[in-house]
Amino acid sequence: MPKPTALVWFRNDLRVSDHAALTAAAASGLPLLCLYILDEESPGPRPPGGASRWRLDHALAALEEDLAARGGKLHFLRGPAEELLPEVARAAGAQKIFWSRRYGGAEIALDARLKAALRESGREVHSFNAALLAEPWQVKSKSGGAFKVFTPFWRALREKIAPPALLPAPQNLVAAPWPDGAPQPLAREALALAPAKPDWARNFPDPDAGEAGARKRLFDLLDRKIDHYPTHRDRLDFDGTSHLSAHLHFGEMSPRQIFGATPPSGGGDKFLAELGWREFSYHLLYAHPELSWRNFNPRFDAFPYRKDEAALEAWRRGKTGYPLVDAALRELWTTGFMHNRARMIAASFLTKHLLIDWREGEKFFWDALADADEASNAASWQWVAGCGADAAPYFRIFNPVLQGEKYDPDGAYVRRFRPELAGLPAAYIHKPWSAPEAVLARAGVRLGETYPHPIVDHDFARRRALAALAALAAGDTHR
Ligand SMILES: Cc1cc2nc3c(=O)[nH]c(=O)nc-3n(C[C@H](O)[C@H](O)[C@H](O)COP(=O)(O)OP(=O)(O)OC[C@H]3O[C@@H](n4cnc5c(N)ncnc54)[C@H](O)[C@@H]3O)c2cc1C
Repeated sequence: MPKPTALVWFRNDLRVSDHAALTAAAASGLPLLCLYILDEESPGPRPPGGASRWRLDHALAALEEDLAARGGKLHFLRGPAEELLPEVARAAGAQKIFWSRRYGGAEIALDARLKAALRESGREVHSFNAALLAEPWQVKSKSGGAFKVFTPFWRALREKIAPPALLPAPQNLVAAPWPDGAPQPLAREALALAPAKPDWARNFPDPDAGEAGARKRLFDLLDRKIDHYPTHRDRLDFDGTSHLSAHLHFGEMSPRQIFGATPPSGGGDKFLAELGWREFSYHLLYAHPELSWRNFNPRFDAFPYRKDEAALEAWRRGKTGYPLVDAALRELWTTGFMHNRARMIAASFLTKHLLIDWREGEKFFWDALADADEASNAASWQWVAGCGADAAPYFRIFNPVLQGEKYDPDGAYVRRFRPELAGLPAAYIHKPWSAPEAVLARAGVRLGETYPHPIVDHDFARRRALAALAALAAGDTHR
């Protein structure tokens, strides 16, 4: 008989502090088996995209070290969790199994099946909240259902949040040996998460993954940026935001830790409200598990989106001829990240200027963003496209030139990510097509050769999008 153990199954909760599942497992007094399963086979849960896999590799490396520093050991397996977890539990004689909850529909279903099967085999299963300020079911609208509008949701949530009693990282963990008869564990490198041949991420900035990196980012924000956060967060030419999104997605820091450290006044209030949008996205995903593929507002099912593979590819590649849109896409390709305002402008361009279905953009971001997150990505795409909960109205169509002049007034963002335009004066950097020939020549820009002509005229695109909306409103569309 194997010695009794407690099993901690890590998922998107890759940290050791403020980790209720790990704390409870350590408190059980049993030796611990800490496990991460790369599961790309179970039906339902969406496998991580390319940039996310790269970022996950860094997150796991950091967790491996943080656990080892406390006497623990992280083991890796690859395959369907529904088979592997019970096999390990059986071989290890795991009396108790601990994990942090997930909120996607397929993940909830998988976890519920596993919980039932494990309990049936006589084991205790304990699950905890590690990812949210409050569980989605704890915050209810007056009618008792899920909220559809952000402001009352955030008010209700803030009333619910008690000052967080944060959990310190457990020390002196006792690692159980890998059990005989369990599937052979792998080295992290064998999960092959990092891209190779070609290593397209080799020039991505160091993500400074893990808890220590997340803390540095948070305190950098609180020490240097918070006072100006409400205005600077929109500026593409400043580093005015926290860059915590991937840390939060992988659970390297809990939102409760952020909430506990951030003063709720001045810029802190606005920053916490952004964390509120993340909570709202999870609230929506929990209530609408189909959020990443079905219009929240079903009226948009009849929206006359166009199928235009060439335009979609030009957008993906950053070849639309609109410098701000193209800089945004280049930021994504070269860093795995995109500034929030750039995400809004790029998404608006795809769905409104090009009239391409938001799901195409969502899919591409899923693959290209290191912080790709089922809840935030889907909710944000639907928000921009006008079909989401509390969405920006469809008729609000970003003008990429005016947005550039407002949020990147000297063109620093465009110059950084589109160096082929760097020589243009600020007056033309967001609209090179309007520059006199001599100015273009001086800057070394040859439209149609070194930089594309706009793939669509802004005024035409705006009229076309509004006409599509009017047709939808009149019920005069067919797909
Ligand atoms: C089309 C589109 C797609 C997006 N896809 C994702 C995604 O896949 N993953 C993701 O984490 N965010 C996504 N966002 C939201 C937002 O752009 C990023 O969270 C933000 O840019 C991350 O930068 P930051 O950490 O410096 O943000 P900060 O301004 O420092 O904000 C702090 C935290 O609040 C949360 N947050 C901020 N804005 C939003 C928002 N609008 N919705 C939900 N949470 C928010 C993030 O967790 C962020 O780390 C998307 C936005 C758009 C418009």
